[in-house]
Amino acid sequence: MTDTLRTRLAERLGPSGWLDAATDAYTTDWLGRVSHAALGVARPASTAEVVDTVRAAREANVPVVPQGGNTGLCAGGVPGAPGAVLISTERLDRILSIDPDGPIATVEAGVVLGALHERAAEHGLVFPLHLGAEGSARIGGLISTNAGGSHAARHGMMADRVLGLEVVLPDGRVWDGLRAVGKDNAGYALRRLFCGAEGTLGIVTRATLALAPAPRARATALLACPDLGAAARVGYALRRSLGELVDALEFFSDTGLGWALEHVEGLVWPLDERPPSTVLVELACVADGIDLDGMLERALGEALERGDVTDGAVAASEIQRGAFWRLREEIPEGQRREGAQLKHDVSVPVAALAGFVVETTAALEAVLPGVRANPFGHLGDGNVHFNLSPPAGRANFGDRVEALSDTIYRRAVDAGGSFAAEHGLGRTKVALADALRDPVERELMRAVKRAVDPAGLMNPGVVVEG
Ligand code: FAD
Repeated sequence: MTDTLRTRLAERLGPSGWLDAATDAYTTDWLGRVSHAALGVARPASTAEVVDTVRAAREANVPVVPQGGNTGLCAGGVPGAPGAVLISTERLDRILSIDPDGPIATVEAGVVLGALHERAAEHGLVFPLHLGAEGSARIGGLISTNAGGSHAARHGMMADRVLGLEVVLPDGRVWDGLRAVGKDNAGYALRRLFCGAEGTLGIVTRATLALAPAPRARATALLACPDLGAAARVGYALRRSLGELVDALEFFSDTGLGWALEHVEGLVWPLDERPPSTVLVELACVADGIDLDGMLERALGEALERGDVTDGAVAASEIQRGAFWRLREEIPEGQRREGAQLKHDVSVPVAALAGFVVETTAALEAVLPGVRANPFGHLGDGNVHFNLSPPAGRANFGDRVEALSDTIYRRAVDAGGSFAAEHGLGRTKVALADALRDPVERELMRAVKRAVDPAGLMNPGVVVEG
């Protein structure tokens, strides 16, 4: 049966569209935690080819796994067991149109985020979603994980920028929801359902996305703060006084900064000393003639007087702006090179962030004395990447892995937040979700899955079990 399926797909998709041998780059997830052989890799170049691939796999009772750039951090884009057909969107990579007046773009699912950034810039536009993997992550994957990133507090997550979708359903039908309006209350918000579905309800093949005018002015600064509480107060003050001009508001600790400076080449810390907490703030404005540097300075006056900001640097050039952003973006890489780590992607209400981090860090110390916490992330929307490294001199966390993770997840939930803020559940967090989420919520999700994919062949084992 599987040989027949291989032959059928090879004939239908041709030599560029079907790979019998799936290399590790397709079958192993980004963090190297899940790896199973696939029956082969389908690389369809049109919606019709996606339809035929899904139908052929269904008739052979073989599961399919959609994949974009394979940068997901929860292993949802690789097979969870041997023998699935992996459907890569890498050949669905056309930007179909850009309407500068909308402003909107219609794209195929395999377009790389960085490529969309470049094309939008040619029209004086931006697609304001930014993350460290933007050179590899593809639009269909970003939609399917409902990615957030550094500009989400100002511009929304992926779901907020999706106006319309075309999706190949698990039975091979095509849902043409490729509308181009934000206002669309014609019943259940189906487009939202597919944002964050992680490939379990169908394969996104096309999307209409909301772009935005490119800013003409920016002010980017690194602010040194004596602790995270002060950093949070600076964030509130900036948002209160500058509102929508605040385009990004990020934070990191000295622990993460130290590892980045030690392990990653080419990083420079621009201030005299390294503070306990750093805020990276970026203001952006489309209108001409606005003195953002001056506005930032005035907005920070009170924080400087109070001692919430002890030092700071404003980027004097685009190159320096890039260098400031690299300090923030290389925090995960610095920790990776430090050795073993435990990653957690949680969110708490913005007003609770500093207290949550401080109290949780103390609770972690009680679980494993000396454990090194590296909380960093998005001050503007309460999303903390609460990543841990073992105590200095130790190679791993011993038998404390579960207790450490449980401490972070339960505290985030108790604070009114989420145990899965922006990376999704994939394969690696399904059991966690089953333990932590409300039983009614879990049953609703299972019911949706059963209704859309009764055969259970669309990315099984991701988001919900069974
Ligand atoms: P993949 O990894 O290929 O797939 C992800 C999921 O989507 C899988 O479940 C897959 O089955 C499904 N899928 C893929 N394409 C389709 C499709 N066309 N139709 C249906 N389902 C599909 N994420 C953030 O939110 N914010 C960040 O700041 C961030 N930073 C990152 C930094 C780095 C260095 C890395 C490696 C990752 C980061 N991520 C971040 C996570 C990752 O980049 C995002 O989850 C991204 O959206 C995944 O896109 P992808 O194309 O690589 O998807």
